[in-house]
Amino acid sequence: MALENVILTVENCRYCLMCRHVAPVEKVTHRETLSPHGWALLIASQRRGLIDWNEDTVDAIYSAPDHGNSRVHCVTDQPLPEAIAAVRAEIAEQNLGPPIIYEINEALSTYGTPYATEEPGRISGQGEDALYVGDEAPYLWPRALEAAITLLRAIGVTPVTVGVGRSNGYLASSLGFPGTAARLARANLVDIREAGASRVIVLSPGDAFAFGQLWYERLGIDWPEDVQLVELVTLLDDRLAAGALRFSQARDDRPYAYVDPTHAIRVKDRHDRPRRLVEAVMPGKRVELLYRRERAHPVGSTALQFTKPDIAEKLTRARIEDAVSAGAQVLITEDPGTLYHLSRYAKEYGVEVAGLYELLAAHLARGRL
Ligand code: SF4
Repeated sequence: MALENVILTVENCRYCLMCRHVAPVEKVTHRETLSPHGWALLIASQRRGLIDWNEDTVDAIYSAPDHGNSRVHCVTDQPLPEAIAAVRAEIAEQNLGPPIIYEINEALSTYGTPYATEEPGRISGQGEDALYVGDEAPYLWPRALEAAITLLRAIGVTPVTVGVGRSNGYLASSLGFPGTAARLARANLVDIREAGASRVIVLSPGDAFAFGQLWYERLGIDWPEDVQLVELVTLLDDRLAAGALRFSQARDDRPYAYVDPTHAIRVKDRHDRPRRLVEAVMPGKRVELLYRRERAHPVGSTALQFTKPDIAEKLTRARIEDAVSAGAQVLITEDPGTLYHLSRYAKEYGVEVAGLYELLAAHLARGRL
């Protein structure tokens, strides 16, 4: 069941400051309007007839990041990001949104992605294990995909690939196009069914969130009960703990930081897993960002990269600056979208960005376990 009357959430948020201290956009813009209670007050005011949707107010609504920090830090679990997505759907429906959202929706409707002008690929075959490829891995950080398949083979899993080049539906939902999001979700489900998969492995917490929560809460589409959904880092960490996976140490003793990727906070109890995997390879000192784990902030890989690229850039730079101030010289994460955005600016700060899956695949210990 999709969340009902979700926009009423703003009545509970409009004068509440309890999640403001972890709100990333207000942190980088210093604008109170661009905070959870600011967006809620704006929406509540529009519904009372006190303001209209115009260029300024719509601009503010499309400045919200939709990465989940408000809800994750809310003791009463107010679905504010879902409320904002529902309001954007009303704005988009009335043709009051910024022109870019209609361009991206057209690309998502035609190609399943805003990152390429080719239609999604076919499933690679049939099998119990499917690897959801999505659109960020092949088009933004293809090395992650190759490395992920190498790692899966190392633990005895030969996956078929599904959802090749097709968005998981998050971006369309976040921009205010739930119909497009639902079509993408259903197309991915058709792939999974045609592949005959009983387990779907995903590369990022963003995919885990989209399939495991966004689909039913925002689109009313249930993940199939007979198909297990699992992150690749979970599979690898379990095998590492069981002694069924080993790595050699990298010849790199620079201090490093694991950067919790965009949407990581939306997936419970995951934060130790990628850190254990990085430590299995990197011998240097691990430092931590201030905004990490349960209070991690996103890079600019959400819909903001299209609607508010200036804010997206500020968010990404803030993550790099957070890591640099902690003493990191290498920034490691697994999410293709997060890797792509970090790598756009990392050189300016004299730091290197490394993909976790590539790092692990390059240091797989050969021979009998
Ligand atoms: S999400 Fe929760 S903590 Fe944040 S403004 Fe709303 S009610 Fe307050």
